Amino acid sequence: RRAAFAALKNVAPETKDGARITVMVNAGLRDDVAALDLTGADGIGLFRTEFQFLVSATLPQREGQKRLYRDVLEAAGERPVIFRTVDIGGDKALPYLDHDENGDEENPAMGWRALRLALDREGLMKVQARALLEAAAGRTLNVMFPMVSEPWEFEEARALFEAQRTWLEGRGHKLPLQIRYGAMLEVPALAEVLDILLPRLDFLSIGTNDLTQFLFAADRAHPKLAVRYDWLSPSILRFLRRVTREAQAAGVPIAVCGEMGGRPLEAMALIGLGIDRLSITPAAVGPIKAMVRSLDRAALAPALDALLAAPPTDLRAALEAWAVEHGI
Ligand code: PEP
Ligand code: MG
Repeated sequence: RRAAFAALKNVAPETKDGARITVMVNAGLRDDVAALDLTGADGIGLFRTEFQFLVSATLPQREGQKRLYRDVLEAAGERPVIFRTVDIGGDKALPYLDHDENGDEENPAMGWRALRLALDREGLMKVQARALLEAAAGRTLNVMFPMVSEPWEFEEARALFEAQRTWLEGRGHKLPLQIRYGAMLEVPALAEVLDILLPRLDFLSIGTNDLTQFLFAADRAHPKLAVRYDWLSPSILRFLRRVTREAQAAGVPIAVCGEMGGRPLEAMALIGLGIDRLSITPAAVGPIKAMVRSLDRAALAPALDALLAAPPTDLRAALEAWAVEHGI
């Protein structure tokens, strides 16, 4: 099977009925970029910039950040890279940052992390914005913000980037040809105000790892809960379908970048909901491509809608049966 997956490297992930699915990879370190050539992925749909911060003994400075981002963009060549601004705090505490200024956190995943921390620590975000803008000079910069909970947070983060862009422009620096701003949907509350957010977005990416833990109120790292709630549950799939339709109606590209998209049956369901962009762990690219190429999306979509209208007790088993029946 491994050889069969490798053989798919230069084969486009297209469904039997001709839907081209964009399959990108998640990355975080300089060496991860090699996965692009190894897998034949379409780009990096999630570059977790906090990895550099996590492996560093001191706060990475602008030059060090810029070097990493430039290396990644150069290695990616024509393929797009989506840089996520730092998702630190919570369980990703940094020894050199004072996380205790708000006291100990009882629920770090729901705590002072990601964009919340970055908007409070503007200096940190400004340095990262400068590093990204300089690294992407002469090309497109795709940047997305993690844990957006309300539209104003996205607005504030974008304004911070735009202010840095203006600053660099005023000093004659070469700038990105284009900046595309996206938000991650990981906090369920954001789904209720998508009508306000979508017109401001260039793209939306669903982080199903955090989203699931918040939808089910179940710690994503808790061993007793890890197998309790299923990604293939009516609540998750209905939620994702609603969000996907809303984004598509607004003409905003939508992707899934959580681990869910790297599992063939889950990815099949996502495609059935209308998702056509996935960013996944590199090892999953082969299996996902194989699944995509055996799938008839036009047949799956109504079958999935019917299952979601009157869900069986075991939706996973029903989807598995559909997959087997349809030669996937
Ligand atoms: C997610 O939450 O699904 C996600 C992609 O981000 P991370 O796993 O880095 O929190
Ligand atoms: Mg997340």
